[in-house]
Amino acid sequence: MSHLPVTPLSKFGDLLRRYGGVIRAIQWFIILFYLFLLLIPAFMSLPPDKARVLNNLTLFAQFVFWGIWWPFVLLSMVLFSRAWCGIFCPEGALAELASKYGKNKGAPNWLKWNGWPAIAFILTTLYGQMISVYDYAKPALLILGGSTLAAVGIGLFYGRNKRVWCKYLCPVSGVFSLLARLAPLHFKVDEERWKENPEPHLPVPNCAPLVDIRRMHGASSCHTCGRCSGQRDAVRLATRSVNEEIVDYGQEEHNPWLIHLLLFGILGVAIGAFTWTVSPWFIAYKQAIAEWLVVHGVYWPLNQDTPWWLFTHYPENNDAFNWVDGFCVVTYILGHGVVLGSVFSLVMFIASKITQQGKVFYTHFCLALIPLGAAGLFLGLTATTVKLIRQNGFAILWVQDVRLMLLLCSTIWSLILAYRVVKKYPLNLIQQLGSMLCFTFVCAIVFYNWYLMFWGWGHLSLFKLSTLVNLVVYAATLVIFIIIVKLLFKRLNKPLKSKTIKVTQL
Ligand code: SF4
Ligand code: SF4
Repeated sequence: MSHLPVTPLSKFGDLLRRYGGVIRAIQWFIILFYLFLLLIPAFMSLPPDKARVLNNLTLFAQFVFWGIWWPFVLLSMVLFSRAWCGIFCPEGALAELASKYGKNKGAPNWLKWNGWPAIAFILTTLYGQMISVYDYAKPALLILGGSTLAAVGIGLFYGRNKRVWCKYLCPVSGVFSLLARLAPLHFKVDEERWKENPEPHLPVPNCAPLVDIRRMHGASSCHTCGRCSGQRDAVRLATRSVNEEIVDYGQEEHNPWLIHLLLFGILGVAIGAFTWTVSPWFIAYKQAIAEWLVVHGVYWPLNQDTPWWLFTHYPENNDAFNWVDGFCVVTYILGHGVVLGSVFSLVMFIASKITQQGKVFYTHFCLALIPLGAAGLFLGLTATTVKLIRQNGFAILWVQDVRLMLLLCSTIWSLILAYRVVKKYPLNLIQQLGSMLCFTFVCAIVFYNWYLMFWGWGHLSLFKLSTLVNLVVYAATLVIFIIIVKLLFKRLNKPLKSKTIKVTQL
């Protein structure tokens, strides 16, 4: 007998399987839209000063890519797990299509190295800042188009109808796999039922990201494509606690590179990449180097003769890096990654030493930082959204309070996760307090960095009376929202009387 009931939600999962053709049509539509927005603006001249999002294609594409697409794809990971990857992503769809007609070779060992997603994320983030990918169309084509070409190229060589690129190399796959652990929706597998292999024996689904479906415990590697829904009467789309994957299964994570990605990439390099443009430290650092060069009679690094594909070079917009600018951007961003990542790793290592639970606890405990990391990425990316909206004449005065609310909620969420992880281990009170103190210290440093970016460096006060009132209103709205979602989930998870499901192979 099935342990996973058929529910309205699981029926929706079955629909994803049954209507794979519709999903492919959606993917083709997005591929064409993506290529249009990527290619055409790159060959147009820079927008004039008076141009706006709604009357200039370059600005429209910039707003779609960086103002909406990326921040809300990130948000979708936390809400709907990796449905973006399985249903909408043009790059994943093209990679899979290419592998269908390619050489079908097996993936070599160098390609299966666990560190690629972390390295690729860090390098892409850094390169994006070097060439101002958020501001100009040619860099967007170079980075996004280059990534898509690489995905297709890998697909043409490796994997038969699979997404080898997504599994091993995509620069955001590691980040998405971390964020999806917080999602309330996932495909749940009943392993015992799977082994029973009941009738009807459906054809084996093509799991493109090469997930071991039978042993799948969460949403981190599943692309939520629905192709295995109903398989062996053991796979169902279902809701779960947003803490479940980290608290209950976090100890099963054996990939240290995912933790490096979290500590050095998301909480290190990304903070440097989002903050350098407003940092007075960056300006002081750059000026100190420039003055030293002038005093020593070395002038060539101050020339703005850098190529656009290496450092930002748009003299017609009064926006061109000299070699010192470029050097400072690279070292500032990487410096953030090294310094913050090392401090966080050391403090979490001390926490694991206090508890005497070794590497398993270290990894498990670090995963509790995901909500704070996710909020930071969302805030950093939506800084571009806010900038573009303001450039188009909308003041959006409430944004600071929402940012504060998001930071506070994500910090509290991380602390709750950390506490629940601590409770899973046989620790005495001193060990519990010591490890939680270390964790709180890491959260405080991350919080302080975002405080500097959005308040401190702009001499804005964090708390005003109006802020407190707004926070209360937002918190009440959030509570109401959570109650409504819980009620909705309850209905969606209510077992249906008939458990017969009709599915067809993709
Ligand atoms: S892993 Fe990357 S390329 Fe693959 S579907 Fe997800 S976002 Fe797209
Ligand atoms: S396990 Fe594979 S086939 Fe099943 S929903 Fe996830 S990605 Fe799709």
